[in-house]
Amino acid sequence: MDFNALAERLLPGEYPALETFEKRYPQRDLPAKAEVTRLAPSPTGFIHLGNLFVAIANERIAHQSGGRLFLRIEDTDLKRKVDGAVEAVISALDYFDIRFDEGAQIGGDETYGPWYQRQRADIYRAYAKELIRRGRAYPCFCTEEELSAMRDVQTANKETTGYYGKYAKCRTLSEGEICAALDAGKPYVIRLRSAGDASRKFVFHDEIKGDVNVSENDQDVVILKSDGIPTYHFAHAVDDHLMRTTLVIRGEEWLASLPVHLELFSALGFRPPKYGHNCSLMKMDGASKRKLSKRKDPELSLSFYRQEGYHPFAVKVYMLTLLNSDFEEWHAKFPDKPLEEFPFRIGKMSKSGALFDLDKLNDISRTELSRLSEGEMLAFLRGWTLDYGGERERAYFADEAYLREVLALCMGTAGKKRRKDFVTAKQALEEIGYFFSDYRQRDAYRVDPQTRNAVISAFLATYSHENDAQVWFSKVKEVAASLGFAAEMRDYKANPDAYRGSVSDVAEVLRIAVTGRANSPDLWSIMHILGEERTRARLQAALA
Ligand code: GLU
Repeated sequence: MDFNALAERLLPGEYPALETFEKRYPQRDLPAKAEVTRLAPSPTGFIHLGNLFVAIANERIAHQSGGRLFLRIEDTDLKRKVDGAVEAVISALDYFDIRFDEGAQIGGDETYGPWYQRQRADIYRAYAKELIRRGRAYPCFCTEEELSAMRDVQTANKETTGYYGKYAKCRTLSEGEICAALDAGKPYVIRLRSAGDASRKFVFHDEIKGDVNVSENDQDVVILKSDGIPTYHFAHAVDDHLMRTTLVIRGEEWLASLPVHLELFSALGFRPPKYGHNCSLMKMDGASKRKLSKRKDPELSLSFYRQEGYHPFAVKVYMLTLLNSDFEEWHAKFPDKPLEEFPFRIGKMSKSGALFDLDKLNDISRTELSRLSEGEMLAFLRGWTLDYGGERERAYFADEAYLREVLALCMGTAGKKRRKDFVTAKQALEEIGYFFSDYRQRDAYRVDPQTRNAVISAFLATYSHENDAQVWFSKVKEVAASLGFAAEMRDYKANPDAYRGSVSDVAEVLRIAVTGRANSPDLWSIMHILGEERTRARLQAALA
């Protein structure tokens, strides 16, 4: 067979010599240990926690080693492409402060671009043409129907499915048969002519999983589809070689394709990068563990965290907690150190699936939000409100000085003990709602309506807005005593049967009347932030 003629017939015209690409994409001028990593999302519009997980690992390793992180858009599969998906990916990763050095819409060094695979079609074709010339790739004219009939036979025989060995029909077509099919205008794809033997096994060192046993590839995988666009496998090998990637951290769903990739690198004469296959995130479902699922778990999608208003820093802290087991201790010890100072290691990543737990994230979020100043909190809440808030939340920002006072009280930043009331922006705004016009009774009174009214009336009768906290509290105690409640906790504890309850039950009635909740920050302070008029109005309203 004249492979040169075949290559010319399949991919006619001048393609640059392959050395041109080696020159156009030179070795990177970086320190010896520097790692070049990348994120290579497909623009499907769905960016998930697994992507973020891998993004953080790639980012840490690249930057910690003095290397580079780039963003490549794998848009070879038009069927899965969604408008605006690239912007969505970039904005999601930007929200979590993943800093790329180069890549699609990043700016920065353009040497290794273009960053959209569709714009690199000629490069892949040039390499495919070379493989055809060398007899390592060939055209395949099998139709979808033939391929699916073949899979049925393989399944029935309990054989590996795919295009390999005796099933690789077009591998043995003669020159005459190929020309006849081309003359007849039959559509075709280009396949790799695999030189592997699946019965041969070898040990592969994965940077995350350690040594894994894999079989050689024997599949004649498609490298160029019928429209001349490469498959993921082929584009991965060509791009990661030319973009000079040194380390590929990607989801473990790609581990099964690793033998294909290694064979492609070898057929192309490229040195493969190091690989780390990251375990899928798991969650507990009842008593059993399972993978997070797009269908069942809204928390898999990154948009969930933005919509709910999780602070990106808290999410990052949690991701790092899952990524490196000693991070949690480090962060507890040095809460104020920038996360970049943590010595991240790929070798510390979990070999089996990390367990994702929303309650744990919520705990971390409470702690991280409690560390913000009220100014930072205000800016964070405003950011969320602009994107996701409604009329109600927007109104909270009309008087910033007032909102600051509210936050200082609710966070305990005003010299008091730090509170951990806030989990997310959405929940925080819900939580402070009672400081604004929309009073809603969230918790029920634990006393009957008569007692409630008696407490409120007695309090109103003695209420004077000028009273300081101490005088105010002594008045609450007087109200308690006058209605048969213990004014002192210790008296109540010593002899509970002698009272209807204690001063804390009385305070709770006032608290619910004013805030709608049984739990809140200091009630005297709340009344003072609300002001006399609103405080009286709420107490009056509660009497009705
Ligand atoms: N486009 C692939 C994906 O989105 C990239 C996998 C890789 O990192 O190589 O899953």
